[in-house]
Formats: sequence, C-alpha cells, structure tokens
Amino acid sequence: MRIENDMVLFNWPLVQRILTQGMYSSTGKWHGAIDMRCTWDGTTIQPVYAAEDGTVNWVHDWDGKTVTGMQSYGNAVKIRHADYKGLSLETRYAHLSSYVVKNGQQVKEGQLIGYTGNTGNSSGAHLHFEVILEGERRNPLVWLDNDFSLAWDTVYTYGPGEGPVKEEQEEPNMTYTSDTLKIGPVSTGDRTTMKALASQLGAAAQDQGDYLLIGPMEEEARDKVAEKAAALSLGCADYTAPAQTDLTSVLARLDSQDKVLEEISSGLSLILDKLVAAGKALG
Ligand SMILES: [Zn+2]
Repeated sequence: MRIENDMVLFNWPLVQRILTQGMYSSTGKWHGAIDMRCTWDGTTIQPVYAAEDGTVNWVHDWDGKTVTGMQSYGNAVKIRHADYKGLSLETRYAHLSSYVVKNGQQVKEGQLIGYTGNTGNSSGAHLHFEVILEGERRNPLVWLDNDFSLAWDTVYTYGPGEGPVKEEQEEPNMTYTSDTLKIGPVSTGDRTTMKALASQLGAAAQDQGDYLLIGPMEEEARDKVAEKAAALSLGCADYTAPAQTDLTSVLARLDSQDKVLEEISSGLSLILDKLVAAGKALG
C-alpha cells in the first residue's frame, strides 16, 4: 500500500517471516531477492499473498527439470503495481509448487496468488521474493516493515543508508503475574515449538485441549515464553489453578465464629438474667 509521501509499504508475501537469505549471500554474492522459510505446521506448502494491489503480468511454468535461465524461477508469478515516483514497480514470487492466478488478472494486496514449493533452481522449499523497480531488482527489505527474523545471524539485511519502510510497532508490554501461562489456541506445530521452549527452560508443559499450560516458572522464563507466544501470534494469559480448599483457614474461621457465638450467647444470658430479675421485682 501507499503511505505518506507516496512511500510504498509492501505486505509480506508469507505469514511467517523468517529470512534464509537476503539481497546478498553470506559470501557476498548478489542474490537480488530475499528467500523466506516456508516450513511450519508440518508442511512446506504455504499460501503466498500479493505484496500490493496490481495486475499479474507474468506467470511461469517449470518444465520439471531445467534449473537455468528463466526456468530457474520454477513456477512463478510476477505482479505489476502502480508506478513508484514515475518508475514501474513489480514483485516476483518464485519456486512455487503452484499458482492460482492468470496473466492479466487484477489482484488485491494480501490476495492468495499461489503456494510455496521447491521448483526451478531450488535446493529446498522456500519462497524467493523479488522487488523490481524499472526493471532492476532492489532490496525487498527496503519496501517492507521490519517485522521479520533471520534464520541465521549471517543473513544480509540492509546496506548502508538502507532500512525498513516502517518500524514495527512495539507490542503492548504485557505484564504477567502468575508463574504459569496459558497459551493458545495452538496448532500442532505451535504446540511442538512451545513445548520445546518449555523443556529448554526447564518448565513443565501440560496440554489442556487447544491450549497449553506452561509453568510454574521463574519470571525470566515466563517472559521468554510470553515473547515466543507473541512472536507466533498466540494468545497468552496468566493461569491460576482452580482454588484449593485451604483447611487451615477454614478451621481458623470456624474457630473465630465460635468465639462470636459464645459472646452472643453469654450476652443473651446476661439480658435474660436481667429480665428475670426485672420480672421478679415487678411481681
Ligand atoms: Zn532466492
């Protein structure tokens, strides 16, 4: 979409934003795109979404074997967006297992255009995403917000003077007070991830239907669990076990009630004595 000063802020093409490669490889070789991990929830076939409104101006079919030239893209889609400062702007999505749009079709930002895969010159399923300005491939990260993480520290992000279009909004600082957190609802994949983290932190993890109870744990571990839950867009709340009946406090209460009753009854007998005495005086 276009934001202030006609700046472009693209929509991330995948829900999960983990980069396995940036504009340059770790050895400094020009890549001209970002690669995004597409393995989660037990599959590598993830929906791919249009980065912005536009018109599909290229769809490409892989021949199933060639990994050079345009065939290196595998099954792929390119979208032409509105001009940016008088220059043509396009995005390309490559190595798809399949695409669901036609050449010439108008698409909306966030619309499903295909599914990730491992076609063309690809040695493992991932999404290869390009931003093309006036025919030249530009660093896609400069057209996106900074709401992403890196698969490895060595992944290239920004060059000198480059940065995200928009800083990620700080998450509201949730404060938890319980030593146990209730996470969810969780998918199978998220459940596995959260349980792995819990075990890493030495905290118990217990299934509770669609939810997961993690704890008891120290504050530091709790913060890590809450942070991970937020990163996975999972619900997270303090969990308090159903109240246990504390016999000591119940007994103490009964005891004090006994004392009150004793005082009342002694008070009553005092009044009664006085009434009897008064009656006698009258009689
Ligand atoms: Zn790539």
